[in-house]
Amino acid sequence: MTDRRPILNADPDDLRDWIVARGYPAYRAKQVLRWVAERRAVSFEMMNDVPKRLREELDAEWTAFATTIDHHDTSPDGTDKLLLACPDGRRVECVLMAEDDRRTVCISTQVGCGMGCVFCASGMKGVVRNLTKGELLEQVLRLRNLLPVEERLTNLVVMGMGESLANLDNLIPALDWLCSPDGLGMGQRRITISTVGLPEKIIKLAEMDRQYNLAVSLHAPTEELRNELVPINEKVGLTAVIEAADAYFRRSGRQVTFEYVMLSGVNDRREDALALADLLRARKAHVNLIPYNPVEGLPFGRPSPDAVRRFVDTVRAGGVSVSVRKTKGRPIDAACGQLRRRLEGSGAGHESGPGSTIEA
Ligand code: SAH
Repeated sequence: MTDRRPILNADPDDLRDWIVARGYPAYRAKQVLRWVAERRAVSFEMMNDVPKRLREELDAEWTAFATTIDHHDTSPDGTDKLLLACPDGRRVECVLMAEDDRRTVCISTQVGCGMGCVFCASGMKGVVRNLTKGELLEQVLRLRNLLPVEERLTNLVVMGMGESLANLDNLIPALDWLCSPDGLGMGQRRITISTVGLPEKIIKLAEMDRQYNLAVSLHAPTEELRNELVPINEKVGLTAVIEAADAYFRRSGRQVTFEYVMLSGVNDRREDALALADLLRARKAHVNLIPYNPVEGLPFGRPSPDAVRRFVDTVRAGGVSVSVRKTKGRPIDAACGQLRRRLEGSGAGHESGPGSTIEA
Protein backbone atom coordinates (compact mmCIF):
# COMPACT_ATOMS: atom_id res chain seq x y z
CA MET A 1 0.00 0.00 0.00
CA THR A 2 1.21 3.44 -0.79
CA ASP A 3 -0.09 6.94 -0.88
CA ARG A 4 2.96 8.16 -2.72
CA ARG A 5 2.19 10.36 -5.71
CA PRO A 6 2.78 8.97 -9.19
CA ILE A 7 5.01 11.47 -11.01
CA LEU A 8 3.16 10.96 -14.30
CA ASN A 9 -0.06 12.00 -12.64
CA ALA A 10 1.28 15.28 -11.32
CA ASP A 11 1.37 18.57 -13.14
CA PRO A 12 4.95 19.05 -14.30
CA ASP A 13 5.10 22.20 -12.13
CA ASP A 14 4.22 20.22 -8.98
CA LEU A 15 7.25 18.00 -9.23
CA ARG A 16 9.48 20.95 -10.02
CA ASP A 17 8.17 23.00 -7.07
CA TRP A 18 8.61 20.04 -4.76
CA ILE A 19 12.19 19.52 -5.89
CA VAL A 20 13.04 23.23 -5.64
CA ALA A 21 11.50 23.38 -2.16
CA ARG A 22 14.03 20.76 -1.08
CA GLY A 23 16.91 22.85 -2.29
CA TYR A 24 17.66 21.18 -5.61
CA PRO A 25 17.81 23.04 -8.91
CA ALA A 26 14.65 23.06 -10.99
CA TYR A 27 16.25 21.17 -13.87
CA ARG A 28 16.29 18.03 -11.74
CA ALA A 29 12.54 17.68 -12.32
CA LYS A 30 13.03 17.65 -16.07
CA GLN A 31 15.85 15.21 -15.69
CA VAL A 32 13.70 12.82 -13.68
CA LEU A 33 10.90 12.95 -16.25
CA ARG A 34 13.36 12.45 -19.11
CA TRP A 35 14.53 9.31 -17.42
CA VAL A 36 10.99 7.98 -17.55
CA ALA A 37 10.07 9.30 -21.00
CA GLU A 38 13.29 8.68 -22.86
CA ARG A 39 15.54 6.40 -20.90
CA ARG A 40 12.85 3.97 -19.85
CA ALA A 41 13.46 4.14 -16.12
CA VAL A 42 10.73 2.55 -14.02
CA SER A 43 12.21 3.46 -10.64
CA PHE A 44 14.08 6.43 -9.15
CA GLU A 45 16.90 4.09 -8.22
CA MET A 46 17.75 3.63 -11.90
CA MET A 47 18.30 7.37 -12.42
CA ASN A 48 22.00 7.18 -11.74
CA ASP A 49 22.93 10.76 -12.62
CA VAL A 50 20.38 12.16 -10.19
CA PRO A 51 21.91 12.71 -6.71
CA LYS A 52 21.37 9.68 -4.57
CA ARG A 53 19.87 11.69 -1.73
CA LEU A 54 17.30 13.24 -4.06
CA ARG A 55 16.42 9.81 -5.40
CA GLU A 56 15.81 8.61 -1.86
CA GLU A 57 13.74 11.67 -1.00
CA LEU A 58 11.71 11.17 -4.16
CA ASP A 59 11.19 7.55 -3.36
CA ALA A 60 9.68 8.42 0.00
CA GLU A 61 6.97 10.61 -1.47
CA TRP A 62 6.62 9.78 -5.15
CA THR A 63 6.47 6.75 -7.40
CA ALA A 64 7.94 6.56 -10.89
CA PHE A 65 5.23 4.04 -11.76
CA ALA A 66 2.09 3.45 -9.72
CA THR A 67 0.85 0.50 -11.75
CA THR A 68 2.38 -2.95 -11.75
CA ILE A 69 2.35 -5.55 -14.50
CA ASP A 70 -0.15 -8.21 -13.54
CA HIS A 71 0.01 -10.19 -16.78
CA HIS A 72 1.98 -10.00 -19.99
CA ASP A 73 0.83 -12.06 -22.94
CA THR A 74 2.53 -12.26 -26.29
CA SER A 75 0.97 -13.44 -29.49
CA PRO A 76 2.98 -14.84 -32.42
CA ASP A 77 1.71 -12.10 -34.75
CA GLY A 78 3.68 -9.47 -32.80
CA THR A 79 1.03 -8.36 -30.33
CA ASP A 80 1.76 -7.78 -26.66
CA LYS A 81 -0.96 -7.36 -24.15
CA LEU A 82 -0.47 -6.05 -20.64
CA LEU A 83 -2.87 -6.22 -17.77
CA LEU A 84 -1.82 -3.50 -15.35
CA ALA A 85 -2.85 -3.40 -11.71
CA CYS A 86 -3.63 0.06 -10.34
CA PRO A 87 -2.88 1.00 -6.73
CA ASP A 88 -6.55 0.41 -5.80
CA GLY A 89 -6.39 -3.11 -7.22
CA ARG A 90 -8.39 -2.30 -10.36
CA ARG A 91 -6.97 -3.71 -13.55
CA VAL A 92 -6.69 -2.25 -17.03
CA GLU A 93 -5.72 -3.69 -20.37
CA CYS A 94 -3.54 -2.23 -23.05
CA VAL A 95 -2.02 -3.63 -26.22
CA LEU A 96 1.04 -3.10 -28.40
CA MET A 97 0.77 -4.07 -32.06
CA ALA A 98 3.68 -4.33 -34.47
CA GLU A 99 3.01 -4.27 -38.18
CA ASP A 100 5.65 -3.39 -40.78
CA ASP A 101 7.24 -0.23 -39.49
CA ARG A 102 4.30 0.74 -37.33
CA ARG A 103 4.30 0.33 -33.60
CA THR A 104 0.82 1.04 -32.32
CA VAL A 105 -0.45 1.06 -28.76
CA CYS A 106 -4.08 0.77 -27.78
CA ILE A 107 -5.01 2.11 -24.37
CA SER A 108 -8.05 2.00 -22.08
CA THR A 109 -9.61 5.10 -20.56
CA GLN A 110 -11.86 3.68 -17.86
CA VAL A 111 -12.24 0.66 -15.61
CA GLY A 112 -15.31 -0.89 -17.23
CA CYS A 113 -17.61 1.23 -19.39
CA GLY A 114 -20.96 2.88 -18.85
CA MET A 115 -22.17 2.89 -22.45
CA GLY A 116 -23.62 -0.62 -22.50
CA CYS A 117 -23.18 -1.46 -26.20
CA VAL A 118 -24.96 -4.81 -26.36
CA PHE A 119 -22.16 -6.72 -28.15
CA CYS A 120 -19.23 -5.44 -26.08
CA ALA A 121 -17.52 -7.17 -23.14
CA SER A 122 -16.17 -4.00 -21.51
CA GLY A 123 -19.54 -2.63 -20.49
CA MET A 124 -21.05 -5.81 -19.10
CA LYS A 125 -20.53 -4.73 -15.53
CA GLY A 126 -20.86 -0.99 -16.01
CA VAL A 127 -18.28 1.65 -15.34
CA VAL A 128 -16.19 1.70 -12.15
CA ARG A 129 -14.12 4.84 -12.60
CA ASN A 130 -12.09 6.98 -14.96
CA LEU A 131 -8.40 6.24 -15.24
CA THR A 132 -6.12 9.03 -14.07
CA LYS A 133 -3.76 10.90 -16.37
CA GLY A 134 -0.91 8.92 -14.80
CA GLU A 135 -2.63 5.60 -15.44
CA LEU A 136 -3.22 6.57 -19.07
CA LEU A 137 0.44 7.47 -19.50
CA GLU A 138 1.72 4.41 -17.70
CA GLN A 139 -0.10 2.16 -20.18
CA VAL A 140 1.71 3.86 -23.05
CA LEU A 141 5.13 3.85 -21.38
CA ARG A 142 4.90 0.29 -20.10
CA LEU A 143 4.15 -0.87 -23.65
CA ARG A 144 6.79 1.37 -25.17
CA ASN A 145 9.31 -0.14 -22.76
CA LEU A 146 8.70 -3.53 -24.37
CA LEU A 147 10.11 -2.30 -27.69
CA PRO A 148 13.76 -2.80 -28.60
CA VAL A 149 15.65 0.37 -27.61
CA GLU A 150 16.07 1.52 -31.18
CA GLU A 151 12.33 1.45 -31.83
CA ARG A 152 9.79 4.17 -31.14
CA LEU A 153 6.04 4.17 -30.88
CA THR A 154 4.55 5.48 -34.08
CA ASN A 155 0.80 5.39 -33.42
CA LEU A 156 -1.64 5.41 -30.58
CA VAL A 157 -5.31 4.46 -30.58
CA VAL A 158 -7.64 5.14 -27.69
CA MET A 159 -9.80 2.11 -28.33
CA GLY A 160 -9.46 -0.07 -25.25
CA MET A 161 -11.87 -0.34 -22.36
CA GLY A 162 -14.08 2.59 -21.53
CA GLU A 163 -15.67 5.56 -23.22
CA SER A 164 -12.78 7.84 -24.15
CA LEU A 165 -14.70 11.09 -24.19
CA ALA A 166 -16.23 10.42 -20.78
CA ASN A 167 -12.67 10.90 -19.53
CA LEU A 168 -11.69 13.84 -21.71
CA ASP A 169 -10.30 15.86 -18.79
CA ASN A 170 -7.58 13.30 -18.10
CA LEU A 171 -7.19 12.05 -21.66
CA ILE A 172 -6.25 15.31 -23.36
CA PRO A 173 -3.51 16.31 -20.89
CA ALA A 174 -2.10 12.79 -21.20
CA LEU A 175 -2.09 12.86 -25.01
CA ASP A 176 -0.72 16.40 -25.06
CA TRP A 177 2.19 15.31 -22.91
CA LEU A 178 2.90 12.35 -25.18
CA CYS A 179 3.00 14.77 -28.13
CA SER A 180 5.22 17.31 -26.39
CA PRO A 181 9.01 17.36 -26.65
CA ASP A 182 9.11 16.63 -22.89
CA GLY A 183 7.09 13.48 -23.46
CA LEU A 184 7.49 11.14 -26.42
CA GLY A 185 7.31 13.75 -29.15
CA MET A 186 4.54 11.86 -30.95
CA GLY A 187 2.54 13.50 -33.72
CA GLN A 188 -1.04 14.44 -32.90
CA ARG A 189 -2.08 13.09 -36.29
CA ARG A 190 -0.78 9.67 -35.31
CA ILE A 191 -3.27 9.46 -32.47
CA THR A 192 -6.89 8.36 -32.82
CA ILE A 193 -9.59 8.78 -30.22
CA SER A 194 -12.50 6.38 -30.55
CA THR A 195 -15.85 7.34 -29.08
CA VAL A 196 -19.34 5.90 -28.88
CA GLY A 197 -20.37 9.37 -30.09
CA LEU A 198 -21.13 11.88 -27.34
CA PRO A 199 -22.00 15.04 -29.32
CA GLU A 200 -21.25 17.61 -26.60
CA LYS A 201 -17.89 16.05 -25.87
CA ILE A 202 -17.04 15.88 -29.56
CA ILE A 203 -17.75 19.61 -29.85
CA LYS A 204 -15.66 20.29 -26.76
CA LEU A 205 -12.80 18.32 -28.26
CA ALA A 206 -13.15 20.22 -31.54
CA GLU A 207 -12.87 23.50 -29.64
CA MET A 208 -9.61 22.38 -28.07
CA ASP A 209 -8.06 22.73 -31.55
CA ARG A 210 -5.90 19.65 -31.54
CA GLN A 211 -5.13 17.43 -34.51
CA TYR A 212 -6.15 14.14 -32.95
CA ASN A 213 -8.11 11.86 -35.26
CA LEU A 214 -11.67 11.11 -34.28
CA ALA A 215 -13.25 7.70 -34.79
CA VAL A 216 -16.96 7.45 -34.10
CA SER A 217 -18.45 4.04 -33.33
CA LEU A 218 -21.53 4.19 -35.52
CA HIS A 219 -22.39 0.49 -35.89
CA ALA A 220 -25.78 1.16 -37.50
CA PRO A 221 -27.09 3.45 -40.24
CA THR A 222 -30.55 4.09 -38.77
CA GLU A 223 -31.89 5.39 -35.43
CA GLU A 224 -33.87 2.18 -34.82
CA LEU A 225 -30.99 -0.21 -35.28
CA ARG A 226 -28.52 2.03 -33.47
CA ASN A 227 -30.89 2.30 -30.48
CA GLU A 228 -30.81 -1.48 -30.27
CA LEU A 229 -27.04 -1.91 -30.50
CA VAL A 230 -25.80 1.25 -28.80
CA PRO A 231 -28.30 2.06 -26.04
CA ILE A 232 -26.85 5.52 -25.35
CA ASN A 233 -28.13 6.43 -28.82
CA GLU A 234 -31.64 6.72 -27.40
CA LYS A 235 -30.42 9.76 -25.50
CA VAL A 236 -28.16 11.36 -28.09
CA GLY A 237 -29.56 10.35 -31.47
CA LEU A 238 -27.75 9.42 -34.65
CA THR A 239 -28.32 12.81 -36.27
CA ALA A 240 -26.64 14.71 -33.44
CA VAL A 241 -23.69 12.30 -33.54
CA ILE A 242 -23.19 12.83 -37.27
CA GLU A 243 -23.56 16.59 -36.93
CA ALA A 244 -20.94 16.68 -34.19
CA ALA A 245 -18.61 14.60 -36.35
CA ASP A 246 -19.16 17.10 -39.19
CA ALA A 247 -18.31 19.93 -36.82
CA TYR A 248 -15.13 18.13 -35.77
CA PHE A 249 -14.09 17.79 -39.40
CA ARG A 250 -14.86 21.44 -40.18
CA ARG A 251 -12.87 22.71 -37.24
CA SER A 252 -9.90 20.32 -37.29
CA GLY A 253 -9.68 19.48 -40.98
CA ARG A 254 -9.23 15.86 -39.93
CA GLN A 255 -11.27 13.30 -41.80
CA VAL A 256 -13.55 11.45 -39.39
CA THR A 257 -13.64 7.65 -39.36
CA PHE A 258 -16.87 5.83 -38.65
CA GLU A 259 -16.34 2.45 -37.06
CA TYR A 260 -18.85 -0.24 -37.81
CA VAL A 261 -18.73 -3.54 -35.94
CA MET A 262 -20.20 -6.16 -38.25
CA LEU A 263 -22.58 -8.50 -36.45
CA SER A 264 -23.74 -11.41 -38.56
CA GLY A 265 -27.37 -11.12 -39.62
CA VAL A 266 -27.88 -8.02 -37.48
CA ASN A 267 -26.29 -5.02 -39.22
CA ASP A 268 -24.43 -6.65 -42.13
CA ARG A 269 -27.33 -6.91 -44.58
CA ARG A 270 -27.35 -5.32 -48.01
CA GLU A 271 -29.96 -2.80 -46.89
CA ASP A 272 -27.64 -1.74 -44.05
CA ALA A 273 -24.77 -1.19 -46.46
CA LEU A 274 -27.01 0.86 -48.76
CA ALA A 275 -28.34 2.96 -45.88
CA LEU A 276 -24.81 3.50 -44.57
CA ALA A 277 -23.63 4.70 -47.97
CA ASP A 278 -26.64 7.06 -48.22
CA LEU A 279 -25.88 8.49 -44.80
CA LEU A 280 -22.20 9.18 -45.44
CA ARG A 281 -21.90 9.77 -49.18
CA ALA A 282 -22.00 13.55 -48.98
CA ARG A 283 -19.33 13.60 -46.28
CA LYS A 284 -15.60 13.33 -46.49
CA ALA A 285 -15.72 10.39 -44.12
CA HIS A 286 -14.16 6.97 -43.96
CA VAL A 287 -15.80 3.76 -42.81
CA ASN A 288 -13.78 1.19 -40.90
CA LEU A 289 -15.53 -2.17 -40.72
CA ILE A 290 -14.67 -4.35 -37.73
CA PRO A 291 -15.71 -7.99 -38.14
CA TYR A 292 -17.08 -8.89 -34.72
CA ASN A 293 -14.88 -10.74 -32.25
CA PRO A 294 -17.33 -13.07 -30.53
CA VAL A 295 -17.76 -12.68 -26.79
CA GLU A 296 -18.79 -15.72 -24.84
CA GLY A 297 -22.31 -15.44 -23.51
CA LEU A 298 -23.40 -12.86 -26.06
CA PRO A 299 -25.67 -13.81 -28.96
CA PHE A 300 -23.66 -12.25 -31.77
CA GLY A 301 -21.53 -13.82 -34.46
CA ARG A 302 -18.82 -12.77 -36.84
CA PRO A 303 -19.89 -12.49 -40.48
CA SER A 304 -18.22 -14.71 -43.07
CA PRO A 305 -15.42 -13.24 -45.19
CA ASP A 306 -17.86 -13.33 -48.11
CA ALA A 307 -20.44 -11.32 -46.23
CA VAL A 308 -17.77 -8.78 -45.30
CA ARG A 309 -16.65 -8.52 -48.91
CA ARG A 310 -20.19 -8.00 -50.18
CA PHE A 311 -20.75 -5.27 -47.60
CA VAL A 312 -17.51 -3.53 -48.58
CA ASP A 313 -18.45 -3.66 -52.26
CA THR A 314 -21.91 -2.20 -51.63
CA VAL A 315 -20.63 0.65 -49.45
CA ARG A 316 -17.85 1.42 -51.91
CA ALA A 317 -20.20 1.31 -54.90
CA GLY A 318 -22.33 3.74 -52.92
CA GLY A 319 -19.50 6.24 -53.07
CA VAL A 320 -18.00 5.92 -49.57
CA SER A 321 -14.39 5.18 -48.65
CA VAL A 322 -14.21 1.94 -46.66
CA SER A 323 -11.66 -0.48 -45.20
CA VAL A 324 -11.76 -3.62 -43.09
CA ARG A 325 -9.86 -3.84 -39.87
CA LYS A 326 -7.48 -6.72 -39.40
CA THR A 327 -7.70 -8.71 -36.23
CA LYS A 328 -4.52 -8.98 -34.20
CA GLY A 329 -3.72 -10.84 -31.03
CA ARG A 330 -6.57 -13.35 -31.13
CA PRO A 331 -4.85 -16.00 -29.04
CA ILE A 332 -4.30 -13.57 -26.19
CA ASP A 333 -7.79 -12.08 -25.95
CA ALA A 334 -6.40 -8.77 -27.08
CA ALA A 335 -9.58 -6.74 -27.20
CA CYS A 336 -11.70 -4.47 -25.10
CA GLY A 337 -12.27 -6.03 -21.73
CA GLN A 338 -11.59 -9.57 -22.88
CA LEU A 339 -8.47 -10.47 -20.96
CA ARG A 340 -9.62 -8.79 -17.80
CA ARG A 341 -12.91 -10.58 -18.08
CA ARG A 342 -11.29 -13.95 -18.58
CA LEU A 343 -8.93 -13.51 -15.66
CA GLU A 344 -11.65 -12.24 -13.40
CA GLY A 345 -13.59 -15.38 -14.04
CA SER A 346 -16.70 -14.29 -15.90
CA GLY A 347 -15.67 -15.50 -19.32
CA ALA A 348 -13.48 -18.46 -18.51
CA GLY A 349 -12.79 -21.06 -21.09
CA HIS A 350 -13.75 -19.47 -24.36
CA GLU A 351 -11.39 -20.59 -27.04
CA SER A 352 -11.69 -17.94 -29.71
CA GLY A 353 -10.77 -14.75 -27.99
CA PRO A 354 -11.39 -11.51 -29.79
CA GLY A 355 -8.46 -9.59 -31.15
CA SER A 356 -7.27 -6.08 -31.01
CA THR A 357 -7.46 -4.25 -34.21
CA ILE A 358 -5.20 -2.43 -36.52
CA GLU A 359 -6.08 -0.66 -39.75
CA ALA A 360 -5.88 -2.98 -42.72
N1 SAH B 1 -15.90 3.63 -26.13
C1 SAH B 1 -15.13 3.82 -27.34
C2 SAH B 1 -13.92 2.91 -27.39
C3 SAH B 1 -14.36 1.48 -27.35
S1 SAH B 1 -13.50 0.18 -28.09
C4 SAH B 1 -16.02 3.55 -28.54
O1 SAH B 1 -17.17 3.16 -28.37
O2 SAH B 1 -15.57 3.78 -29.66
C5 SAH B 1 -13.26 0.51 -29.76
C6 SAH B 1 -14.21 -0.18 -30.74
O3 SAH B 1 -14.31 -1.61 -30.55
C7 SAH B 1 -15.63 0.36 -30.66
O4 SAH B 1 -16.06 0.66 -31.96
C8 SAH B 1 -16.38 -0.80 -30.08
O5 SAH B 1 -17.74 -0.76 -30.39
C9 SAH B 1 -15.66 -1.98 -30.70
N2 SAH B 1 -15.90 -3.27 -30.08
C10 SAH B 1 -16.30 -3.54 -28.83
N3 SAH B 1 -16.42 -4.87 -28.63
C11 SAH B 1 -16.07 -5.47 -29.80
C12 SAH B 1 -15.98 -6.83 -30.22
N4 SAH B 1 -16.26 -7.83 -29.41
N5 SAH B 1 -15.60 -7.07 -31.49
C13 SAH B 1 -15.27 -6.05 -32.31
N6 SAH B 1 -15.32 -4.76 -31.97
C14 SAH B 1 -15.73 -4.47 -30.72
